[in-house]
Amino acid sequence: MRTVFPIFFFLMPLLSAPVSAAYPNAAQLRQMAAKFAPTPLTADTSRLNAGDMAALKKLLEIGPLIDRIFLDQLWSGNTAMYGKLRDDKSDLGRARFHLFWISKGPWSDLDGHKAFLPGVPERKLQGANFYPDDMTKAEFETWVAHLPPEKAKEATSFFTVIRRDPATGHLRAIPYYDEYQRYLKPAAKLLREAAALTTNASLKHFLELRAAAFLDDNYRPSDIAWMDIDAPIDITIGPYETYNDELFGYKAAFESYICLRDEEETKKVASFSSHLQDVENHLPLEPRYLNHKLGALMPIRVVNEIQSSGDGNHGVQTAAFNLPNDEVVVQQKGSKKVMLKNVQHAKFDSILVPISKDVLTPAAQPELNFDWFFTHILAHELSHGIGPHEIEVNGRKTSVRLELKDLYSTIEEAKADITGLYMLQYFFDSGILPGGEKAEHGLYTTFLASAFRTLRFGTLEAHGRGMALQFNYLMDHDAFRATRDGRFEVNYAEVKQGVRDLTHELLTIEARGDYSGAKSLLDKLGVVRPQVQQALDRLSRIPVDIEPEFVTANQLVPDKLNP
Ligand code: ZN
Repeated sequence: MRTVFPIFFFLMPLLSAPVSAAYPNAAQLRQMAAKFAPTPLTADTSRLNAGDMAALKKLLEIGPLIDRIFLDQLWSGNTAMYGKLRDDKSDLGRARFHLFWISKGPWSDLDGHKAFLPGVPERKLQGANFYPDDMTKAEFETWVAHLPPEKAKEATSFFTVIRRDPATGHLRAIPYYDEYQRYLKPAAKLLREAAALTTNASLKHFLELRAAAFLDDNYRPSDIAWMDIDAPIDITIGPYETYNDELFGYKAAFESYICLRDEEETKKVASFSSHLQDVENHLPLEPRYLNHKLGALMPIRVVNEIQSSGDGNHGVQTAAFNLPNDEVVVQQKGSKKVMLKNVQHAKFDSILVPISKDVLTPAAQPELNFDWFFTHILAHELSHGIGPHEIEVNGRKTSVRLELKDLYSTIEEAKADITGLYMLQYFFDSGILPGGEKAEHGLYTTFLASAFRTLRFGTLEAHGRGMALQFNYLMDHDAFRATRDGRFEVNYAEVKQGVRDLTHELLTIEARGDYSGAKSLLDKLGVVRPQVQQALDRLSRIPVDIEPEFVTANQLVPDKLNP
């Protein structure tokens, strides 16, 4: 699973000028592409030894192969379209190719996957190219229902495509290693070469197993080895997410993230994690609801991305992901969360800084700070692991998720945000983090500005609605204030109490499994009020996301990357 925020449907009217002609012209295409601010991505490779540096270069050469597989997975006409557009050097051709490459296809991610080119299906096909273009859901279901169990498993596997037999027209499953062999064979070779070069045993082990999986589709052993990677080079590569199969959600798309571990942040996560029980014991919650023995945490890795490809590099950029998705591996080994720090930094610079200039008072603007933005994201993730989860309601054992039903995600996301603030204040107060006025001002003002980034996603989505709840609560408690010209600032005298009270309120709702309490709180506060809407309207010209420029990758392997 990944974190990008599903903004596709909520922001549609806001995002691009309506296309008046049948298809956008060059200027309109450039305007659509400008929703993704070009942003350089770099990572510091100076700490790599010679073996790892050589391995890294091999790994970067795989990216273009993953891109090509993904193009083929998204649409049957994509590979031909890629060649045609790349060779078209006219003004219109170049504008089309640019947006095509951002989208990895002829449909705009920000406009409900609508075509921006002639001669292609009007919208992205639900089954992408995982199934024959003319296959219906019913045809597939009837076919699978009549297959023997082994064959049905192949048909619904993550790692097969469905094609028609050219002679009979009947459906059949083709394994990925066969369908994509022209890309997977050279990719496996590069993985093995990198394995031979690296000096890190856990990385070598993963690369060898993943190379084998590219040739036989047996991904489980390498998924397990991926959980154990403990190396300066952090790589995620293979078929993972199934979002592009909108017919059934069976088929996994290829992606890769070639990254370097961020040593400093990794230490910070370890330090925060070691104090989590302490935070739990001091939560503003009735003592009978506290958990005096926290379970194991999902491991968190903080990395800096050098290159992403395929499903990992189209439309809105991934900021973090949880993998693997294979339930069998998750049961046996758990899963881990990977956070892409320099991607978050790029989004901060290209989106949050311009937002803050519009919504913060001039006096508050200098307090905005990436370190607090990222540290709060870490605290948010760790906060999901504390507070009530397994609960008892009237003597009945249940869970917060079961009791809060459709409201669970919204309440849990808001709880993770606000408890994250509470946690960091606790770290200041107990000397675990250097506190003081400057730190506190940076933390709370950065949170206020980033609230607007989240509120742009709309209140139909859990993060956006959860943020509306927090924002309105803090406004109503005088922790945030609006000025007459429609800007906002933190009232430092009240904000700590406001954060503490809201943390108490949300944790108590969770501890009691109080659905009606959650509902009345959200009905009252989970809305965009006129004052906020006016500010959001002013932000419509600010980019929605970034278009990464892989500066470090291009320096390391010049001329070997797409397009
Ligand atoms: Zn969350």
